[in-house]
Amino acid sequence: MLRKNLLPRTLSDIGAVTFLLVMVQVIYWFELFLVLPQHYEGGNNYLYYFHCALGTWFMFNIVGNYVITFLQDTSIRGRFLASGEVKPNWRLCEVCETLVPPRSWHCPVCDVCILKRDHHCNFTACCVGHDNHRYFMMFLLHLSAATFYASYFNVIFLWNCTTFSFVGALKLIFPMAILVLGGDTSVLQMYRMFCVIALIGMIAAVSLFVYHSINIANGQVMHERVKRITDFDSGRAANLRHVFGQRWYLVWVSPFVRSELPCDGIDWDSVKKSTTKAK
Ligand SMILES: [Zn+2]
Ligand SMILES: [Zn+2]
Repeated sequence: MLRKNLLPRTLSDIGAVTFLLVMVQVIYWFELFLVLPQHYEGGNNYLYYFHCALGTWFMFNIVGNYVITFLQDTSIRGRFLASGEVKPNWRLCEVCETLVPPRSWHCPVCDVCILKRDHHCNFTACCVGHDNHRYFMMFLLHLSAATFYASYFNVIFLWNCTTFSFVGALKLIFPMAILVLGGDTSVLQMYRMFCVIALIGMIAAVSLFVYHSINIANGQVMHERVKRITDFDSGRAANLRHVFGQRWYLVWVSPFVRSELPCDGIDWDSVKKSTTKAK
């Protein structure tokens, strides 16, 4: 189901989305047409083409998972929530003026309740919840791997074009400031900036991926982790299926691999009951 109101609504969302979309494209072309050809003597050998293909597969997964995270509606809009009887653990959302299922929380930016809401992500300008959790995680996984991969070649690239001096170190530690303030406005300084952005991107993506993976393994969303709620922890394997679906072991291959989720994001009673029984 396609999300409504797709445009980013806050300045931080607009800034984060613009930065991410520009930098992902720029670093992709930078690696393929500058760093790799320099590493493989002009790029005229099979190893160069192998790395281009692998880099493009990472790019396909980053963009594909990002676009689906962004487009997929994971809110309560259009879902059949009313069923006559008042369910004991449902809450009233005063903004949406409706009863919402357990694990659903209102997002003030998206202005709607999100099923199994994890958090509002500035870089995708939408909430991460029950229906797009898998794509968000696969976006992070591929972004982590691709920036790590790029940083390996970038270190060699920088090694070959850095002078070992105090000024040389400053150019690497504060590449953007040196470039913007006119300390070094060369193209090479811009390349240094790309390398540092890829490295910072790697640290951020890996940290986020590890943090969210621990939550998923424990059957928690961010809010439940903070409040130490473990009601929906069904064991490692079941917790994985609740996010990545029945074919959880294949979702890293492509965003188009089908993997049915075992829960609709609304009825968490059965999950909770089976968890209680298991304990
Ligand atoms: Zn709401
Ligand atoms: Zn949101």
